[in-house]
Amino acid sequence: MKFDHILIRYGELALKGKNQKFFINTLRSNVQRALKNYPHLSIKGKRDHMYILLDGEDPQPIINKCKDIFGIQSFSLAMKVENDEEKIKQAALEALNQDQGQTFKITCKRPNKHFPVRSQKMNQVLGGHLLTNTDNWQVDVHNPDVDIRVEIRHDATYITAKKIPGKGGLPVGSTGKTLLLMSGGIDSPVAGYLTMKRGVKLEAIHFHSPPFTSERAKQKVEDLAQTLTKFGGEVKLHLVPFTEIQQKIFKEAPENYGMTIMRRIMLQISEKVAEQKGILSLATGESLGQVASQTMESMHAINEVTNYPIIRPLVAMDKTEIIDLSKEIDTYEISIRPYEDCCTIFVPKQPKTRPKREKVNQFEAPIDFTNEIEKAINGVETVVFNASKSQKDDEIDELL
Ligand code: ATP
Ligand code: MG
Repeated sequence: MKFDHILIRYGELALKGKNQKFFINTLRSNVQRALKNYPHLSIKGKRDHMYILLDGEDPQPIINKCKDIFGIQSFSLAMKVENDEEKIKQAALEALNQDQGQTFKITCKRPNKHFPVRSQKMNQVLGGHLLTNTDNWQVDVHNPDVDIRVEIRHDATYITAKKIPGKGGLPVGSTGKTLLLMSGGIDSPVAGYLTMKRGVKLEAIHFHSPPFTSERAKQKVEDLAQTLTKFGGEVKLHLVPFTEIQQKIFKEAPENYGMTIMRRIMLQISEKVAEQKGILSLATGESLGQVASQTMESMHAINEVTNYPIIRPLVAMDKTEIIDLSKEIDTYEISIRPYEDCCTIFVPKQPKTRPKREKVNQFEAPIDFTNEIEKAINGVETVVFNASKSQKDDEIDELL
């Protein structure tokens, strides 16, 4: 008998009372989507765990794919046997024989109280059985090389060896949707990742200013969106033409308040796009104290234009922590490509680091952006990215 399935543990998910079924179904469809190259595998979502029947497949690539899915606390390779003492003994022995080391421990749990032998007793029975039937293994309950876990559940008994950690978090799609303001920088993709970790599905919005920003700068943002699909499935990227607005700010607003005004307009447009899509929050990669736009005063001045909740997962993180995370999620190398973004082109030489609401309102009052904002929103181009490839690729495929 070989390990014939992968056991998936939910962790936090199990606490969610009435919503549990919804959470489990969301996770299940996320797993299914990640494994769409294995359509023959069956994935079963139970109340307290999920499992993937391996059907002879090599488990390692499957586990690797599932390691990117939020909502999974840990995995184990597992064998499923009937709730029968003799069969459990036999399977535990086979699990040990497939592992390597010198010492082992048995950890038995019995959520199914109808099973007649108590966990402590089962530990002894199984430990004895393994010692009698192997040559070189010894028991070490404190620091074993192999921990054989036996979970006697209602439907069956699961015998597992190594526990492999998952990503934790909540299944993406289980707690709503946000619109992420995504630049081509290091921070916003990491903010998107952390928002997804709490079960939030992403759409992204990017402001670009062609011809001042290049095709390659846009490509960079598209590549970032594509990378994020690995963790949360489909990501829609809304590209907003921002040139006219930036030129108008540049021409008509005092230079040192240009950045504050630009950020405020970005937020206004983002809120409108979110509203159109039925999305209830915005997310940004802002952190405190990094650059001029990220002082407390600046956030206060910028935030005035919207009453949408703004998720700022990085607000309390150090830059080094953010960089480490961006490397871990494979966005770093894309983010450091040197192409200009709309903010760097029109950035004032000396942006106001402590802007005031009264002042910014005073400067904005004589400038009417209504038409430009409407035009920008009407000019939004949306590109859809999926876990394997972008919709653009699909369109190209069709043409070929
Ligand atoms: P990032 O690394 O995400 O670019 P940053 O440290 O450069 O962040 P800022 O340039 O102050 O910080 O931008 C703050 C946030 O504003 C960004 O994290 C992002 O959420 C949003 N933002 C900035 N520029 C754009 C843009 N061109 N399109 C969409 N959102 C943007
Ligand atoms: Mg930036």
